[in-house]
Amino acid sequence: MNLSQDSPTPGRPRRGNWQLMADINRNLVVNLLRTCPVMSRADLSRATGLSGPTVSSIVADLTSRGLVEDLGQGISSGGRPPYLVRLNEKANYVIGLKLMGHAISLVITDLSATVMYAQVTTLVGPAAAEPDQTTRPTAYRDPGSIVDAICAAVGTALSSSGVDVTRIIGVGVGINGPVDAANGVSRSSPTFNWKNVPLARPISERLGYPVVLENDANTLAAAEQWFGRGAGIDTFIAVAVGAGIGSGVVLNGQLYRGNDGAAGEFGHVQLSDTGPLCSCGKVGCVEAWASDRAILRDIRAAVAEEAPTSIGHTGHLCELTIADVAAAAEQGDELSRQVLARAGHYLGRGLATLMTVINPRLVIISGEGVQAGHWRFDSMKEAIESTVFPELNAEIIFATEPLDDARWARGAACVVLGEIFSTPTRPSLVHARLG
Ligand SMILES: [Zn+2]
Repeated sequence: MNLSQDSPTPGRPRRGNWQLMADINRNLVVNLLRTCPVMSRADLSRATGLSGPTVSSIVADLTSRGLVEDLGQGISSGGRPPYLVRLNEKANYVIGLKLMGHAISLVITDLSATVMYAQVTTLVGPAAAEPDQTTRPTAYRDPGSIVDAICAAVGTALSSSGVDVTRIIGVGVGINGPVDAANGVSRSSPTFNWKNVPLARPISERLGYPVVLENDANTLAAAEQWFGRGAGIDTFIAVAVGAGIGSGVVLNGQLYRGNDGAAGEFGHVQLSDTGPLCSCGKVGCVEAWASDRAILRDIRAAVAEEAPTSIGHTGHLCELTIADVAAAAEQGDELSRQVLARAGHYLGRGLATLMTVINPRLVIISGEGVQAGHWRFDSMKEAIESTVFPELNAEIIFATEPLDDARWARGAACVVLGEIFSTPTRPSLVHARLG
């Protein structure tokens, strides 16, 4: 946890050994209080291995900052009555955003990631009318207009939420595509059709808060780790299925971003030398076979060739959604069932590759694509079972989460919280100060 007032260079030792040790000790105490609602000073001393006077000194410091509440003496179980303390979760707040092609979902959370306020802001402009699921190329969005929209959304939230703006300590922004989180750069975004756009710095300069930019599948993984099915599980994968396909990977309790911020992008694992064109420019990627965009493309192509289907005539196809295809499958439409099953098969083959490499305990699937339900996921599981390394398969848990944009925004807030509570020996993406 970064509690000090200096602003170290990421990746470099920040202070002398004595100060670093003090930061580590404080971090130990705060993280224990984060996971246990109420603790005695004696329990803190036992759990951390720190001496009683050291714990008392740290607690006094944290109390003076408003981060810890002194609850006074508890009930004795025989010896001296314990002095109880707890983390003041309302001492600070964090903002999380999910940036989409048509809207921004925003939440404000406290230090325990409890949502205090939520809002959705519609993006206006030329690309706002382009739903994520169309096969049309998305229009380029001027990064300046997106920064404007984010800052306006945060401004509305700050004035509407009633939260003390001086207690906000950071902003997390989730966006699709690979992200250079250390430098706050969107390396490429299929939604906005841009490359290498710095976002964190201009937003931070406008808002005056530290900003963390993160791949949105990683924010989903953070949400699952902090308050979802991934809590307490060391190694798991959170898969985002929608217009694109990607994943957030948690390895040994840590979000794994990879060297270029592109870890988990198994949607661009190539399954065939030939096949449909992918958004990345290659052919035959998992995403090109299995995404919502691929499903809608295949349905439209089949309708154009006058395949028998109840999907509707060409005039309505521009508005077609994955929910429409799932509904048609439910009502017996054979074309919809076949296309969804084929997409599920390729999703399963791609996922089996990722699972074989990562060996996760849990796989969580979310995004717009979960609306296709078992019409897509039955064939996905069959493909996984037939292609994954057999030694892995027996112990893996599968789960689906319904699409909830606010959950991803809350995950972006969790990424900021994770940085704030991270160990001081680890280079931090933000230099927010609690208290
Ligand atoms: Zn690709």
